[in-house]
Order: sequence, then C-alpha cells, then structure tokens
Amino acid sequence: MVVVVTRLVKECVEMADAWNKESACMQQVVPDGVGEEVRWNRRRWLSSAAGLSALSLCCGCRSTPFTGRPQLRFIPKSMEMSLGEQSYAEVLAESTVSQNTAWTDAVVRTGQRISQVANAPDFKWDFRLLASPKQNAFCLPGGKVAIYEGIIPYCENEAGLAVVMSHEIAHALAHHGAERMSQQAGVKGVGAVLGWAMSETTPATRELSMKAFGTGVQYGVLLPYSRHHESEADAIGLQLMAKAGYDPSEAPLFWGRFGQAKSGTDTPPEWASTHPSDDRRASDLAAKLPDALALYQSTGSRYGKGEKLT
Ligand SMILES: [Zn+2]
Repeated sequence: MVVVVTRLVKECVEMADAWNKESACMQQVVPDGVGEEVRWNRRRWLSSAAGLSALSLCCGCRSTPFTGRPQLRFIPKSMEMSLGEQSYAEVLAESTVSQNTAWTDAVVRTGQRISQVANAPDFKWDFRLLASPKQNAFCLPGGKVAIYEGIIPYCENEAGLAVVMSHEIAHALAHHGAERMSQQAGVKGVGAVLGWAMSETTPATRELSMKAFGTGVQYGVLLPYSRHHESEADAIGLQLMAKAGYDPSEAPLFWGRFGQAKSGTDTPPEWASTHPSDDRRASDLAAKLPDALALYQSTGSRYGKGEKLT
C-alpha cells in the first residue's frame, strides 16, 4: 500500500508542479492590479479552474466495492494496474524470497482462497513471502501480494495470516491508492487556485493563509481519510476472510496481539496518525464480528483457524 501510494503521489506532485510553474508564468505575464482586462483574465482563469474541478468531480465519482462508499477517483484503472506491476517488479528485484517452505505454502494457499472470493477477474494474482524481519505486508493494484516474514509470528495460524492478507487485498480492491492520488491532485489544484486568488495580498498574509490551508487539509482531509481507508480495509477484509472459509473471530485476536507487541514503542497518538490505534481496530472488528460469523457459517468450505504457523 505504502509503495503504490508513494509512487502515485510522486506522479501527482509532478503534474501539480507543472501546473504551478504555469501559474507563476501567468503571474509574470499579467501584472497585478492594472485594469479591467487583468481582472477579467483572473475571473476567467478562476472560472475555468472551478469548471475543471467540477468536471473532475463528475468524471471521478465512483463507489467502492463491498461497502458502496462514494469515492472520488479519476485515475484510470489501466494506469493504476501498470503502476502496481512496476512497483512489484522493483520490490521483488530488491528483496529475497523466503526459504521457509511451510510459511510460503501457507501464504500461497491462503492468498488463493481469498482471491477466489474477491470478485476481481481482471487481477493477475501473485503471492510471495519475503525474507525480512519487517512486520509488514502489501497488495498492489492488480493483485500482487507480498508478506514479510517478520509478521508471521503475530499471525500464529492461517486465520491470522488471512487477517493480514485480506486487509491488504481489501486496499487494492477498494482502489485506495488511486483515491489518495486523486485527493492529492485535488488538494494541489485548490492550493494553486488559492495562491493565485491571493496574489494581490501581502507576502506575509499569503504565506500565513497557505500554511493554514496546508495544516487544515492535512488534519481535516488527508489523515482522517487515511484512517478511514484503514477501517474500511478492516471491514472488507473481515468479509473476505469469512467468505474464504477462515474463522473471522481471529481478526480482533490478531490486532490485540499486534497491539500488545507494539506497546511501549513510540506510537503516535491516533488523531495525528495515518492508522487507527490497534485497540480501536480490535474493538471495531469485534462489533462487526456477528455478521462476519454468519457469513462464515454460510460458507461451503470452512478451515477454522487453518494450519498452525508458530
Ligand atoms: Zn492498511
């Protein structure tokens, strides 16, 4: 998830920089406060920006699978998939595949079971266990899944592994990477319009306003949205693991174990973090558990907690 968001954001920043350079050129060509023509040009520019924003909103409005949440996403699926492929190739080129055959088999087996209920026929699935003490995992757009060895001890069993894999796969199914990229592009666009609109104010006022805008966006839009993505991935992931035949009651247990292991470390407070706290996560999942258990009971093949991994 982090890999693809970083790549997507980089592309977006390049687009926004090009736009900012163009705005700076416009400011030089049309000096401030020199008559009606200048004001008309500014009004026309702002109207065009507003029109383009409205068009992006119309073209980019989608809904997430499983939850049906309205989602602003105007990045083409083909671009998302190809960035996923490239990022995966780069990660694999820099990584070593695990030699632990029992764990590797569990990753492939669990991943295949989840992929069969993911309703993503255009995904080209691949599941790898990487030799690294990192306690992490990701699924890139298009279904490229990597698990780092360091997280396996917290999983304890295949159902725990299914919690991790389902959560990461849910991010890809819900196109969270493309949504973040669309948000970043929108924020940069509004910032550019704000900068232009304030070009007649003093540099000090302009700087203060832009700083306030940046802080407001970071804490009011981007970070909460990021936490929302995490909670949504937990909710979708719980359904996926239940449908794949793994006992969903393992999900709050896994996050409880993971949270305990992290206690005492320098975890940022939840309101300023991109992730919900593990305690919050465990309690949210526990609330969703009755529905997930009903889904699990209605599934044809049930594996319970699956094989033990530790
Ligand atoms: Zn996540």
